[in-house]
Amino acid sequence: MLALSFREFQLELEREERPVNKAQVKELLDELYKMYPDAECELTYSNPFELLIAVMLSAQCTDKLVNQVTPDLFAKFPDAASFASASLADIETAIRKIGLFRSKGKHIKEACRILVDQFGGQVPSSHEDLVNLPGVGRKTANVVRSVAFGIPTIAVDTHVDRLAHRLGLTKAQQVLQTELDLMKKIPKDDWIFTHHGLIFHGRRVCSARAPKCEQCPLTGLCSYYRTQQKQSVRKQRNKTSAGSATQNSV
Ligand code: SF4
Repeated sequence: MLALSFREFQLELEREERPVNKAQVKELLDELYKMYPDAECELTYSNPFELLIAVMLSAQCTDKLVNQVTPDLFAKFPDAASFASASLADIETAIRKIGLFRSKGKHIKEACRILVDQFGGQVPSSHEDLVNLPGVGRKTANVVRSVAFGIPTIAVDTHVDRLAHRLGLTKAQQVLQTELDLMKKIPKDDWIFTHHGLIFHGRRVCSARAPKCEQCPLTGLCSYYRTQQKQSVRKQRNKTSAGSATQNSV
């Protein structure tokens, strides 16, 4: 299936104006739980500190690549103090396979210095403390809070944002608004799972360029699918009427 552009899809969605109700949200969650009962963070980590560093490294980079780099990285720099006292060049060398390694190295070193100076080398669990660390934005803070500390949050990454739009859970133009819309629609007990479930579905079935709708059990709940179906019916009709017009003019 050829994917609609984000703008085309938004225009169609505005035309459609069919808000998702509670029963549909429940159905969606039931399906996600059925498909991905073990959905969880796919980064490898053994404590909140390693998770924080892995999430910082994962920006615009695959979890798979981060997981290739972190075993050696954490063997060399096992805690905040070791990153804080290392030279930037050593950190950069250890993460150079990862995109944006220079800025990530700088952020990690500085964030670790703050962890040592202000938090005894531990990762804080408060949103405010986390987003005050260099290189830690709202999404990273939410992942750390939910995965490391079990605090209900919905971290919105590119998969969660795309799926939330396709499934008609939001029409937000900003990621923060997507998060707020999801928090309104999804029961709080399901926030952490929803983040992982949508990421699993985005990675395995509902990719940005070529969603495998023919394999997806969510078609009945999906605004994007309905829109694509309508478009292909419209295109087919146009083709048929263009064909008859040509025949009549002969
Ligand atoms: S039907 Fe499934 S795969 Fe297709 S766009 Fe919707 S959620 Fe994605």
